[in-house]
Amino acid sequence: MSSLQRTPTFDLTAATQLLQRHYGREGTLSPLPSERDQNYAVDCDGERFVLKIANAAEDPSFIAAQNEAIVRAATRPALRAGPQLIDAIDGNDTVAVDGSDGSCHRVRLMRFVPGIAMAQLQAPNSALWQQLGRWLGQLDDALTGLDAPVLHRPFPWRLEEGLEVVQRYAPLIADAEHRRDVQELVRRADVATAASRATLRRGAIHNDANDHNVIVTPGSDADDPEIVGVIDFGDMVVSWVVAEVAIAAAYAMLSAPEPLDALAGIVSGFDETYPLRRDELDAVYGLACLRLGVSAAMAAQQRTQRPDDPYLEISQGPIAATVPKLLQRPMALGRQVALDAASGGWEPSESRSTAWVAAQRRRQTGKSLSVGYRRPLHLQRGFMQYLYDTEGRRYLDAYNNVPHVGHCHPRVVDAAVSQQRRLNTNTRYLYDALPRYTERLVATLPSSLQVCFILNSATEANELALRLARTMTGQRDTIVLDAAYHGHTTSLIDISPYKHGGPGGQGAPSWVSVAALPDLFRGQHRAADPQAAARYAASVGECLDTIAAAGRGPAAFIAETCPSVGGQIVLPPGYLPDVYRRVRAAGGVCIADEVQTGFGRLGDCTYAFQEHGVTPDIVVLGKPIGNGHPLAAVVTTLEIADAFANGMEFFSTFGGNPVSCEVGLAVLDVLRDEALADSAVRVGSTLRLGLQALSQHDAGLADVRGRGLFLGAELVRDRESLRPDAARAAAVSNAMRDAGVLIGVDGPDHNVLKIRPPMQFDDHDAEHLLDVLHDALAAHPTA
Ligand code: PMP
Repeated sequence: MSSLQRTPTFDLTAATQLLQRHYGREGTLSPLPSERDQNYAVDCDGERFVLKIANAAEDPSFIAAQNEAIVRAATRPALRAGPQLIDAIDGNDTVAVDGSDGSCHRVRLMRFVPGIAMAQLQAPNSALWQQLGRWLGQLDDALTGLDAPVLHRPFPWRLEEGLEVVQRYAPLIADAEHRRDVQELVRRADVATAASRATLRRGAIHNDANDHNVIVTPGSDADDPEIVGVIDFGDMVVSWVVAEVAIAAAYAMLSAPEPLDALAGIVSGFDETYPLRRDELDAVYGLACLRLGVSAAMAAQQRTQRPDDPYLEISQGPIAATVPKLLQRPMALGRQVALDAASGGWEPSESRSTAWVAAQRRRQTGKSLSVGYRRPLHLQRGFMQYLYDTEGRRYLDAYNNVPHVGHCHPRVVDAAVSQQRRLNTNTRYLYDALPRYTERLVATLPSSLQVCFILNSATEANELALRLARTMTGQRDTIVLDAAYHGHTTSLIDISPYKHGGPGGQGAPSWVSVAALPDLFRGQHRAADPQAAARYAASVGECLDTIAAAGRGPAAFIAETCPSVGGQIVLPPGYLPDVYRRVRAAGGVCIADEVQTGFGRLGDCTYAFQEHGVTPDIVVLGKPIGNGHPLAAVVTTLEIADAFANGMEFFSTFGGNPVSCEVGLAVLDVLRDEALADSAVRVGSTLRLGLQALSQHDAGLADVRGRGLFLGAELVRDRESLRPDAARAAAVSNAMRDAGVLIGVDGPDHNVLKIRPPMQFDDHDAEHLLDVLHDALAAHPTA
């Protein structure tokens, strides 16, 4: 006989008599909905109770276990407002009564938990999620040691069985896209929790703190509801304790604008009252995702039996809406959020309106500060190759090379935080971090480059590079490439034609000579010319001649090894050796600005100059070196460094501080341990081949260039005139932004699509970028 056939059938009169006989109470009864049992609300002497008549199929030992849980919880002052049992006249918390068919039903009377279901709240907030976490932590602490064979019964809602349940029933999910999403989320959850599942602590848990079982009171201040209690112990099991947190989080995530805020709130509250271990924090987000998968799969299964039951659908709409959002949040991000939440390092996402931020910025930070895209991004969080805006939308970042090893990489963040907690000072004192870092940094470079100056920005580093060159040579004249950019200070604007030759610029000063940009696509000498490299080098020769004719000598030649704002240019082979020879012969030093290309971005070399068979006299490093932390370096020869030590002290207040050094070390560690340069070779070649394929079908996409994860694609109006198509480049990058993929536009003619993602960018991301680019190009054809 199924349990539904053993549902109690006590009418109002019978239930009223039962109440009188066993509890000695008179009251007004009204039926409450229940599928398996019979429940009556009882109003009696100004108090409200629930009379629960259990299904005859219910195992008495399970009712006893639930009762014990309720009694244990009620011993905790903070949980006292939750469910409480009222003893019958005979002193027992449960009485056995016979139904009309002779079957035996267990009856209990409980205090009614007053309030509304959390599911009814318009906008639950972090404070409430934390309270719920605290409540559940205290409950599970009270349940420690509670055990009974029935709590080990096979039960599809026990998360240990979750994977099997999803494997069996998810195929019944009718909507194909939702089915695939659920299966993919659970697959990822399985992988993400595999390492920790074996060690998770086990214990008796409520196992169903979904927002319909969490009772809150709107309290005195309607905006400030409080948790009153968690009802319905009917799913209680012995399971992973952290499943309690995961289950509550799973349902809370459904109503949170940013699902991870709900997870963080519940984890941090639970951890306060029931400290979670590392393995539990590692697993909790994956388990929350698994629970949503179980819910979707079970609903699909139950729907085959009860197609018209509206209760089955109660969570399914929100789950269908949330699963795609969760698929956009890597498991590693969820794990990190849980870890941060438990260590107090999580701030819930609360943002001012985008309009307010934009307006204040315009007013208070000056009009010359620009913002990207037609519809600017209002960002809230970054993780690896992803950025998230204030609406929880995810963007694939294919543009930012500063977060080199990934936005907010946990190892880099931890390195900064833990050193910041210990000591942060300056180079006037001895501390280990500086030589530990310089030793590692120098080891990445050719052996002649052995002295480091650690600074805060590439601008500061390029300034120092100029000073080094001037002190070494006793000269000031500097040769730069056309369209170059080296930084924003006065002298660096002077050596940056991109700035001094552009709007608001005042041209090159007399000590700066501008050599032709060796652009083989649209420059003076093109790819078809086998002498192009030599001809471009001769342009530097002309600059040297002009300097000599004025009776002076060169201090330096400075160039990016792959000019970036110049349009992601790849210098022709042979060019740099020729130039370096000429410059050195004239007494100048050669500076490589590797700010864009350093640290393995090109994949098969750590620094771009290595591909040209030259060793600069000075190398300037910035941007990726600190993954977003203000860090930069100049590395030079002993000879140049010694010449610089002319009596004037060198000191940069923040340069080389221990926090920066630890950050720099962590970046090098991650690059090595995650083999990110190798991945740049592979992913970069996928991207490049994909771009070349697009270029074959799109006459406007006329040139694809670059290496590793440093790529450019140039848009022209036609391939004969090579007239730049800046309008199309802007339209394509904006369309891609709207589709959730970020690239940039650069080059002197603003027509080069610039692709320079964090090094975590993977094959799947590359395919996605190519799809989105394909659509954007099709939507914005050459005019
Ligand atoms: N050199 C190059 C090649 C750069 O691209 C930049 C910044 N775009 C700089 C120097 C200056 O860097 P920062 O703004 O970090 O000082």
